[in-house]
Amino acid sequence: MVTHTHQGTAVVTGASTGIGAIYADRLARRGYDLILIARDRAKLDKLAREITDGTRRSVEVIVADLGNKKDLGGVEAKIRSDSSITLLVNNAGVASAAPLLDSNVDQMEAMIALNVTALTRLTYAAVPGFVARGKGAVINIASIVSIIPEALNGVYGASKAYVLGFSQSLQHELAGKGVRIQAVMPGATRTPLWALAGVDVDVAMKGRVMDAGDMVDAALAGFDQGEFATIPALPDIAEWNAFESARSAMRPNLSLAEPARRYGVLTRSAA
Ligand code: NAP
Repeated sequence: MVTHTHQGTAVVTGASTGIGAIYADRLARRGYDLILIARDRAKLDKLAREITDGTRRSVEVIVADLGNKKDLGGVEAKIRSDSSITLLVNNAGVASAAPLLDSNVDQMEAMIALNVTALTRLTYAAVPGFVARGKGAVINIASIVSIIPEALNGVYGASKAYVLGFSQSLQHELAGKGVRIQAVMPGATRTPLWALAGVDVDVAMKGRVMDAGDMVDAALAGFDQGEFATIPALPDIAEWNAFESARSAMRPNLSLAEPARRYGVLTRSAA
């Protein structure tokens, strides 16, 4: 279904393939104009044409390598200066399934530059305008490895743990300022990411791989329901709520004047 109610402009990073391309399609159908960002101009232009033909929404393409400071700076400037932007979907990301002993540290650094630094800088570019206008949303594409970082490559897992932690902090900081934050934690989803990481996901995760369209539709339903954390596959949300409750319950005990008894430290106050 295509709605003609204008929702402002959505910026979608990593929109040339996979999850980002589907967000672009779904958001245009929901009434957003689009700014689509990735490195592959041919794929972006093709998607932009298809979306404009199907929805009549305006679609701007920005070809940028978000791992490159200069390209990233250009996108930040665009986001800061365009007051029509109401939604930022931080989706661009790369993955790895290799253990530390088989990984190249320069590739790990490049992954951090995209998954962590670009996402952070684009959020910093968007949020002040959203707060000033009292309206806006950031959808950060994290992963289930945000909470199980030992599942794949450790830097990938830690980069997605960062996305979740940063989103949790933003949700807390921006409460009451008219800005929505959503952290989406997909499980294995059928996209080109897996082949790039050298994994046949339908073999490695047989019977547990979600269609990318279904994943994005569930994530947007979670957004509509006002969720902060959306785990599209998790059958019982009570499990996430229990995880969050356990975290909150520890809070009063995490910073105290004395080490815990189990460490057997004779404290200065007792001596
Ligand atoms: P994908 O199909 O490989 O898409 C990644 C997108 O990011 C592409 O549009 C790619 O476009 C863009 N990109 C990569 N490097 C870039 C760079 N340096 N600068 C700008 N754009 C860049 O992967 P996907 O599965 O849709 O992944 C999207 C997000 O979902 C990622 O953050 C990923 O970590 C997350 N995720 C995926 C899964 C899964 O199972 N697929 C599960 C959990 C989370 P260009 O190559 O044209 O630049």
